[in-house]
Amino acid sequence: MNSNEIDIHKELKKYFGFNQFKGLQEQVIKSIINQNNTFVIMPTGGGKSLCYQLPALIQKGTAIVVSPLIALMKNQVDAIRSLSSENGIAHVLNSSLTKTEINQVKKDITSGITKLLYVAPESLTKEEYVEFLRTVPISFVAIDEAHCISEWGHDFRPEYRNLRSIIKQLGDVPVIGLTATATPKVQEDILKNLDMPDAKTFKASFNRPNLYYEVRTKTKNIEADIIRFIKQHKGKSGIIYCLSRKKVEEVAEVLQVNGISAVPYHAGLDAKTRAKHQDMFLMEDVDVVVATIAFGMGIDKPDVRFVIHHDIPKSLESYYQETGRAGRDGGEGHCLAYYSYKDVEKLEKFMSGKPVAEQEIGFALLQEVVAYAETSMSRRKFLLHYFGEEFDSETGEGADMDDNVRNPKVKVEAKDQVKM
Ligand code: ADP
Ligand code: MG
Repeated sequence: MNSNEIDIHKELKKYFGFNQFKGLQEQVIKSIINQNNTFVIMPTGGGKSLCYQLPALIQKGTAIVVSPLIALMKNQVDAIRSLSSENGIAHVLNSSLTKTEINQVKKDITSGITKLLYVAPESLTKEEYVEFLRTVPISFVAIDEAHCISEWGHDFRPEYRNLRSIIKQLGDVPVIGLTATATPKVQEDILKNLDMPDAKTFKASFNRPNLYYEVRTKTKNIEADIIRFIKQHKGKSGIIYCLSRKKVEEVAEVLQVNGISAVPYHAGLDAKTRAKHQDMFLMEDVDVVVATIAFGMGIDKPDVRFVIHHDIPKSLESYYQETGRAGRDGGEGHCLAYYSYKDVEKLEKFMSGKPVAEQEIGFALLQEVVAYAETSMSRRKFLLHYFGEEFDSETGEGADMDDNVRNPKVKVEAKDQVKM
């Protein structure tokens, strides 16, 4: 099949009910249908899933989708099933299935009903599954969250490193890598590890023009400063990220005592409490969630108006992902980070217990955060440059949306001093 032979707009409407493609979706889908190895870099919420779902639905054979989280796979399978009268159109293959369930999955794939097969990377290493998949027609393999391949990414998964050799056993199938991680380093790693230097690459802009970036020096009065900030944003939804569970509890309490409706969220709370607090935030029973980075994966609240970092993040990549939860609806999103060099030292000390290679990566990533916090240039330009993107800090979209641009620091230029 060739992309000139099908009307993909019609198929988009038929399966998903959408009238238009978002961003680069159309080009990506054509590239996949034309059997190219394809690499897609789009920010979270950009619509990456549809890039492989639509080609899978309209092509012969089954597409294998590798995804790191069982919950995400289940969500997608349910969503695809709701588009069709055929339950077997999408399946998940993982270790929790019974023998009978596995047989049903195999039967549906063999009979050509299954268009999308979601697998966790560790399941794909199982001899039994690979043997079976070698015998059926595979349209392509999509690797979602492909940054898990790279140690420079924010979510390295060693199992992802074995994918290429397994895919090779499946024969000559196109490979699609997708990620929201924009650093050139991670991208390079992904292409190298998947052994696809020829991949057609599609990269969307990571600029979020509606987000305002600000860094404040962290002092003893940080709690009072945060309270003042929240009171200026009365009734608005926001997230406050802290490094430790203890700090989360402390800050949540201070806010509550000061009449702000806030709940804590971290991995030390039991699942029921976590779910309750998350729902309270989504349903707007509380304004603020004080959280560790455990909070946010898959959170899709469109009107988060501020994201505050009480402590500095581990990397600029994490900072971008975490602040990216603000202003999803295109409205205001204030991203405020508190910075003190003491926090950097704390993080470094924390990392010093880790293996040397990991430490080195950790330190290097942290230095970029320090540079971001200390810079006097446009923060948006700095962030986008980190992601390999050019940004014109005078005319670019959202150019005046940061503290350094609105209130330039008075600089003494070295050459001026020389003149004197
Ligand atoms: P990503 O994986 O890039 O973070 P998703 O695939 O989860 O993004 O998609 C984000 C949202 O965009 C979803 O709610 C999806 O339904 C929506 N979406 C995707 N493509 C389109 C489109 N062409 N038109 C309208 N909405 C779309
Ligand atoms: Mg996704």
